[in-house]
Amino acid sequence: MNRNFTVICAAFFMCAVLIVVYLCPVFPGATTVSAEYDGEKMIFLTFDDGPSDRVTPRVLDVLKEENVPATFFIIGKNAETRKNLIKREIAEGHTVAVHSYSHDYKEIYRTPESLIEDIDKCNKVLFDCAGVRSDLYRFPGGSYGLSAKLIDAVTKHGMRYVDWNASTRDAEIYKPTATQLLNASLTTPANKNRVVLLAHDSTTKTATAEALRDIITAYKSMGYKFEKFY
Ligand SMILES: [Zn+2]
Repeated sequence: MNRNFTVICAAFFMCAVLIVVYLCPVFPGATTVSAEYDGEKMIFLTFDDGPSDRVTPRVLDVLKEENVPATFFIIGKNAETRKNLIKREIAEGHTVAVHSYSHDYKEIYRTPESLIEDIDKCNKVLFDCAGVRSDLYRFPGGSYGLSAKLIDAVTKHGMRYVDWNASTRDAEIYKPTATQLLNASLTTPANKNRVVLLAHDSTTKTATAEALRDIITAYKSMGYKFEKFY
C-alpha cells in the first residue's frame, strides 16, 4: 500500500516536473506580460461639468491632434442645448458618461430618490443626444464622504462610479494659469502607475484647454498609455 502510494507520488512528481519543463518557455513570457500589465503606466483623462461652447471644442481639438481618448462626465442641463458636442465626443471615440442633470448638490443629495432622479434625467438627455445611455457615473464632488445610503442607491440602480486619484486642480485654484494646472497634474498623482486625472470642460476652464497639450505630452514622455473608461 505504502509502496503503491510512493509510486503514485513519484509519478505525480515526474508529471509535475515534465509540465513545468514543458511550459517553461511560456512562463517567462507570461510572467513578463503579467508584470507589464500589473505595472503598466496608464492615465485616464476625465472631464467633468461639460459640455461648454467655449472649452469643450478646444479640448476635443487637442485630444484629436494628440490621438488620445478621454471620458466626459456630462451635465445634462448643459448638454440639452449642445447635442452636437455630445455627438462629436462620441464620434471621436471618447466615452460620454453621467455626472448630473442639475449639478445642484442641495437638491441631488437630498435623498437617494432625488439622486437617482437626477441621474436618470441626465441619462435621458444623453439618450436624446446620442441614442445611448451610460451606466458609468461620477458623483458631483466625488463619492468621498457621501453616505452609504446614497452610494448604495446608485450601485443598486445599476451604475458603476468612478472617482479620481489625481487632479489638475482646475476647480480649486482661483483663475489658474496653464502652468499651475500642468504642475498639479504632474504632482498630485504622486508617481502612481494608474492615474485617473480630474479636469473640467465647463465654460470658465479655459486654462484647462490651454494646459491640456502639455499635460498629454508630459505623460506621453513618461511612458503612460492613455485609456478611457467604458
Ligand atoms: Zn462636477
